[in-house]
Amino acid sequence: MYVVATPIGNAADITLRALDTLKRADAIACEDTRVTSKLMGIHGVATPLVSYHEHNAAKMRPVLIGRMQAGETIALVSDAGTPLVSDPGYKLVRACVEAGVPVTALPGPSAALAGLVLSGLPSDRFLFAGFLPNKSAARRTSLGELTAVPATLVFYESPQRLAESLADMAAVLGPREAAVARELTKLYEEVRRGPLPDLAAHYDSAGPPKGEVVVVVAPPGAEAEAQAVDVDSALRDALSRLSVRDAAAEVALMTGRPKRDVYARALELSREDGR
Ligand code: SAM
Repeated sequence: MYVVATPIGNAADITLRALDTLKRADAIACEDTRVTSKLMGIHGVATPLVSYHEHNAAKMRPVLIGRMQAGETIALVSDAGTPLVSDPGYKLVRACVEAGVPVTALPGPSAALAGLVLSGLPSDRFLFAGFLPNKSAARRTSLGELTAVPATLVFYESPQRLAESLADMAAVLGPREAAVARELTKLYEEVRRGPLPDLAAHYDSAGPPKGEVVVVVAPPGAEAEAQAVDVDSALRDALSRLSVRDAAAEVALMTGRPKRDVYARALELSREDGR
């Protein structure tokens, strides 16, 4: 099986090898046949399309594996960018590996990498965090798990949730430098850079941007220390009113920090203060 990257916006962003492979394959497995047939039409690829998406994947996997075991060549694409990167394909690749069907990747565009390289933020170490949860409480918990990661963070986000997500990032990760990369590779490509609270305020007043976005956030730096101090002062305040357990629960919820870590710090502080 060939895992083939396709454009994330500009239809010309496809490799010569990808086009050649797509033309020669017996079938192209794709998420949405309408989306892929449009792209294939632009590039003169007439290979039959088979739909493979989250809702029919369990049923289609054995069918596709059977066809490949019988000697056919299948190319896997997603609607845009690199399959498996916040897109279907992982279980199919795994099934190929288990069935002894050879798999090859044909790399190409991915919004995560395009956003990272345009962000102007450190690129020596990065963590692709995909989409955050839709609800704020769950989102803050997920962000809390990332606070100590010593790497640039890359997120996919919907334009409708962008302002709320940036506000949660600012609350949990602190005033780190960040970038919102929009409409990558397209005519109105735009990268807005600044500290998280400023970006959150901008999108709160400007409303949801048009098109698709990637959010890139700098690794923890000086503000991580400031934030640790904030946790301490929030804990001191909570400990003056509540038990250690309740104070830790309140501050963990407020900061998105892992409960266990906040509880351990609350215990230390309460001992230091002779509570
Ligand atoms: N597999 C794709 C890839 O490799 O980039 C990503 C698929 S994921 C379902 C779609 C998300 O990718 C969008 O919600 C957006 O966050 C991001 N994205 C895709 N195309 C983009 C573009 N042209 N500009 C900015 N973000 C984009």
